[in-house]
Amino acid sequence: MMRTPIMAGNWKMHKTAREAVEFVTRLQKELGDWEETEVVVAPPFVALAPVAERLQGTKIALAAQDCFWEEQGAYTGEVSPPMVRDVGCRYVIIGHSERRAYFGETNETVNKKVKAALAHGLHPIICVGESLEQRERGDTFTFVGRQVKECLQGLEEAAIQKMVIAYEPIWAIGTGKTATPEQAQEVHTFIRGVVAETFSPQGAEVLRIQYGGSVKPDNVDELMAQPDIDGALVGGASLVVESFARIVRFERR
Ligand code: PEP
Repeated sequence: MMRTPIMAGNWKMHKTAREAVEFVTRLQKELGDWEETEVVVAPPFVALAPVAERLQGTKIALAAQDCFWEEQGAYTGEVSPPMVRDVGCRYVIIGHSERRAYFGETNETVNKKVKAALAHGLHPIICVGESLEQRERGDTFTFVGRQVKECLQGLEEAAIQKMVIAYEPIWAIGTGKTATPEQAQEVHTFIRGVVAETFSPQGAEVLRIQYGGSVKPDNVDELMAQPDIDGALVGGASLVVESFARIVRFERR
């Protein structure tokens, strides 16, 4: 089964609109007509429109870092799936651990957002992952298994093909501490198994599962050599053109 690798840069709260446009202009130049990996950038909301304009006619796809589940209404500060779609996003990151930690995101709100995103033609990148404490207690599989089930609850089987799951162990995000390729592979296989059991083996086979957590040019190749790692969700290293481009063009082993 060939799953096209997908490399996504999560910029978090970095770069103004002007800096974002400058960045994608340079990234596009650097990558040229690169086609082997799907490339996605997720700038802050206020940069989406000008970046979308600059990316027109290129192979680089755009993602939002979050969205609300309602279409419109009195929800001050929120941005809806149709708005995200309309501005030119193909993807939307949902349930990042920072949103879970600082903004009260739960599996239940993630599930609502995933459903709303799909209903509006967006492809959700759904983040799951355990804390250091949970890993040390031996709870990784129970916890991640529950996250996957609850975040995907009530979805139709066909939805599986439209989404991406990002496995991001919290202890590896922004810490410089990467999961070993074997540690990541083990959880990726497990997630694929949960999806196979809950939905279908065929759906699980096409599902792309990204690894996230201190992915850098010097560890991407070994991570991508694992059979169930289909891409990376990259924070810090996605903010520099050269390092993100090197991650996009990882070397196959
Ligand atoms: C992330 O925020 O999704 C992430 C993985 O960050 P970093 O690459 O900086 O660890």
